[in-house]
Amino acid sequence: MSIVTNKELLDRAKAGHYAVAAFNTNNLEYTQAILRAAAELCAPVIIEAAKSEIDYMDGHVFVAMVTAMGAKLPIPIGIHLDHGPSYEEAVRCLNYGFKSVMYDGSSLPLEENIANTKMIVAAAHACGVSVEGEVGVIGQAVDGPEGKRNDMTGIADPDDCEKFVKETGVDCFAAAIGNAHGLYTRKPELRFGILEEIEKRTGIPLVLHGGTGIPQEDLRKAIAMGVSKINFSTVMRKGCIETLTATLNANPGDLDLMKMLTPAREKMVEIAKEHIVMCMSDHKA
Ligand SMILES: [Zn+2]
Repeated sequence: MSIVTNKELLDRAKAGHYAVAAFNTNNLEYTQAILRAAAELCAPVIIEAAKSEIDYMDGHVFVAMVTAMGAKLPIPIGIHLDHGPSYEEAVRCLNYGFKSVMYDGSSLPLEENIANTKMIVAAAHACGVSVEGEVGVIGQAVDGPEGKRNDMTGIADPDDCEKFVKETGVDCFAAAIGNAHGLYTRKPELRFGILEEIEKRTGIPLVLHGGTGIPQEDLRKAIAMGVSKINFSTVMRKGCIETLTATLNANPGDLDLMKMLTPAREKMVEIAKEHIVMCMSDHKA
């Protein structure tokens, strides 16, 4: 169908009481798997990339790849910068043609986070691009590619969230509520009371990072409380690498790269479908 802004996707998701699954990508097969899963389930989907992934693929190539693949599919697709580290990176992504950017100033003092986010909102909105902010540091459950490690996570203050949303004009934001990136070392304890309070005070779509390993019942409870986008990254990489390793071990010396990568891609389709269904966004395209 078309490439749309996250605002468009998330406002619809919030009204419809489901969440849009957002998957990171860093290559062709990964992107094919996400889009095939979403198309087969008639689900809206967000393809996102962090700075390291954009640098790996090249931002122009990434946007061109998703746009070309998406043109043939009957679903709306978001192209999003995950954990943008700076104003410069956000502007670079506007130039690449992203339809949504995240700025993560959560480790800065609130006032500084607000000031930086506000500048990015002004630039992005001028280009018709939506913005995701972050309040309260969402840490790293174990070492991961997103660079933060602080065993589990901080908890966002609802007062800070209210001020942040009012002053920045973001379209959606991620609040730390006990979630973390990577593989959880213990069962995540999401703070639903805080989530409820944040939703009441802000009213805009909320984003849950670190979706890998959060049980379905907790994801759905969070969706009922206003979470409209859930990020999944680790679970896809884990499925891909485990399947690729098994294929390589079963076919020593085989130099057919496509044959080696195909089972890993199939595994990622299966995982993406599972998580889209967990988000209840199937048949919502
Ligand atoms: Zn994240």
